[in-house]
Amino acid sequence: MIRKHNFSAGPAAIPREVLERAQAEMLDWNKMGLSIMEMSHRSKEFIAVAQKSEADLRLLLSIPNNYKVLFLQGGATSQFGMIPLNLARADQVTAYIETGMWSTKAIVEGRRYSQLEVVASAAEKGYRSVPTQSELNLGDDVAYLHYASNETVGGLSFDYVPQIGDVPVVADMSSDILSKEIDVSSFGMIYAGAQKNIGPAGLTVVIIRDDLLDRAQAMTPKMYNYKVHAAAGSMSNTPPTFAWYLSGLVFEWLLERGGIAAIEQINRRKAQKLYQEIDATGFYKNQIVSNNRSMMNVPFNIHDASLESVFLEQAAKADLLNLKGHKAVGGMRASIYNAVAEESVDVLVDFMQNFERQHG
Ligand SMILES: *Cc1c(COP(=O)(O)O)cnc(C)c1O
Repeated sequence: MIRKHNFSAGPAAIPREVLERAQAEMLDWNKMGLSIMEMSHRSKEFIAVAQKSEADLRLLLSIPNNYKVLFLQGGATSQFGMIPLNLARADQVTAYIETGMWSTKAIVEGRRYSQLEVVASAAEKGYRSVPTQSELNLGDDVAYLHYASNETVGGLSFDYVPQIGDVPVVADMSSDILSKEIDVSSFGMIYAGAQKNIGPAGLTVVIIRDDLLDRAQAMTPKMYNYKVHAAAGSMSNTPPTFAWYLSGLVFEWLLERGGIAAIEQINRRKAQKLYQEIDATGFYKNQIVSNNRSMMNVPFNIHDASLESVFLEQAAKADLLNLKGHKAVGGMRASIYNAVAEESVDVLVDFMQNFERQHG
């Protein structure tokens, strides 16, 4: 069996050790004679799995006690609507920072349920850097400030947490949660679809401060109401049990490796190796300013764009998979989430050097 090098943006790589453990436990979980997928979410066994998973996530991110952790469905995209419905009155202003494709999708949806204002945009700088704190203009009665900490398509990443007074900050961390240390207490809410840096698709993690649970608009559907899910331990209906279990295995995997501080060091090294190669000669390019370059999603082009399809074809032959850039931007993109081994980045860098030698 060959496990190839997988640079998929999402659903993305899952640690080999986690897959092996899930495989070993698949037919007979915990000597119960059935798989984890086949038992009630209300059984004491599954509840123990769910609670351990939450406890480990709390440990990894040092989540304070006044925050709830919710294990939901519907992807980060559902959150784009749930956030204004839960956190703002229909007549209240909500503030959004626009930095690329995902924050824009959040803006389009957020506008349907709140008086949304885009308070800063990376457009003026060609999406090469994020707006600075001083560029954010917020009025008084703002329900929350929303931003995407890492733009998965553009590879544009915040190197600070935008903070304006005590306005709750809501962050879409779908593609960089668990990649580096954060201070959860600077956020009102953090959310992430699991399929990038957590586990399988189908699970969406929400971390939300207690005092924000009481604001939902009356029209909010029950299954879109954070308070309902918080009260029910995310078991208001059947949760995505397998994705929850597997994400729990990923949390254990991270803890065994020294937690977020340790994985952050590895992530920094991986990203540095790749950007160094991109910057080396001008054959490859990435135009984002160094402070805002994503550690997780590294888009790049070849100076001669006609070589890009050749690059992708040869990369696939060399077992380097899913390097094609998002269809909206083209070029290449290497997503190097926690589960992508440093060795895979080394193999990619070698390949890039060889390719340049042949075609440079
Ligand atoms: C992938 C992604 C989303 C959308 O996630 P879904 O789970 O597919 O809805 C939203 N925001 C960011 C930053 C993403 O990377």
